[in-house]
Amino acid sequence: MFRYCPFCASEKISFEKRRVFRCPGCGFTYYHNTAAAVAGVVKTAAGLILLTRAKEPGRGKLDLPGGFVDPGEGAMDGLRREIIEELGWDPGPLGGAGERPCRLFASFPNTYVYKTIPYNTCDLFFSLDAPELTEKDLVIEAEEISGLRFIQPEDIDPDNLAFESVKRALRVYLNLGT
Ligand SMILES: [Zn+2]
Repeated sequence: MFRYCPFCASEKISFEKRRVFRCPGCGFTYYHNTAAAVAGVVKTAAGLILLTRAKEPGRGKLDLPGGFVDPGEGAMDGLRREIIEELGWDPGPLGGAGERPCRLFASFPNTYVYKTIPYNTCDLFFSLDAPELTEKDLVIEAEEISGLRFIQPEDIDPDNLAFESVKRALRVYLNLGT
């Protein structure tokens, strides 16, 4: 993170409460705020869609489609964009009247370390049904994904999941508690 104040180059910059950088010299203050991240449990006739991560964190482990919400996006806009980017399939507008049903069913905190910077995220988990979707509808091109699997929810091994928040969310999805 910051070792020197980006304004006055003081070494006395402090980091408090996992999110606030403060420079006692010039008063520079920066809030490394919690970021919103979304993930989708996409239910198809063949099971839930899980992706194999090609990169750290969690390389080789399974994850749900999703990612960070971009500036200017609502959570479901971000989820739709991430699903298009990662699965090559457009679920269409999500969650509104006459749109594909999409429901927030769980939310947990996560810490996502990317290129040595820890990002505190608020992970939002949505369930959406896609009974018409089959493997041939999907095109995996994103470089952060090395594979895709359809798995029946009860067959998912929690030890194969990349993130604790996803483990917890799938337990909620399966009504196993948190
Ligand atoms: Zn300063």
